[in-house]
Amino acid sequence: MAATTLKLARLNGAAEIFHSIQGEGVSSGYPSVFIRASLCNLHCRWCDTDYTWNWAGTPWPHENDADPSYQKFQKKDYLTEVAIKDVAEKVASYQCPRVILTGGEPLLQDSAWQELMRALLEKRSDYHFEIETNGTIAPSAEFDQWIHQYNISPKLENSGNRAKNRLRSEALAFFAKSPKSWFKFVIASEHDLTEVEAIRTEYNLPQHRILLMPEGRDDAALQKRRLWLAELCRDKNYRFSDRLHIQLWGSKRGV
Ligand code: SF4
Repeated sequence: MAATTLKLARLNGAAEIFHSIQGEGVSSGYPSVFIRASLCNLHCRWCDTDYTWNWAGTPWPHENDADPSYQKFQKKDYLTEVAIKDVAEKVASYQCPRVILTGGEPLLQDSAWQELMRALLEKRSDYHFEIETNGTIAPSAEFDQWIHQYNISPKLENSGNRAKNRLRSEALAFFAKSPKSWFKFVIASEHDLTEVEAIRTEYNLPQHRILLMPEGRDDAALQKRRLWLAELCRDKNYRFSDRLHIQLWGSKRGV
């Protein structure tokens, strides 16, 4: 049966849908409408959208556990289920043709996104849809017909996820072959690059479609890694991605 709702992150009593500038990856700088899905199938230690999955009562560790004021999230306060027609109306109200499906892991809701994209294209024909995914779930053939761009961010050891959960051959084989794919790796140390190169070789990821991005949830942390990573990208022939939205707005939600 067709899905009629999307499970989205809740922010200030409403779904987290906002108009901003894409801050990462190959579309960096484009005005875009972001729709943030709730739920994720991975549990990255440094995740900055942990309010989409780190529910009270779950065992997953997070870097923020070291902060005594950090608490896991109450699902009922951080997840909202919204009718697809309402999501489409909200997105259409921004008059912006570029739409980014993000999360959490948005591919957990494949068929609901198809309906949303169909509903939006009935309102205007020039929408461009991108999805930001952790690359563990291959989309359905139907979803693939609607989407224009995959921004895939496979996770490394530094995420704390087990390799068998974060590197799924079937999904990575799909993305490696798709001409719509761009791969973005979050890099915290030079050791991470060794891992990227092993993953690139094992899964046949096209090098010219790989971007390396410094890990950091605030500008000071990013600044520490930016220069060495930019030089490493130059020397190893990878594309560099910054985190523009962190520079502009810090780690605030909904911007
Ligand atoms: S895959 Fe993305 S949303 Fe999921 S835990 Fe990792 S960083 Fe967070």
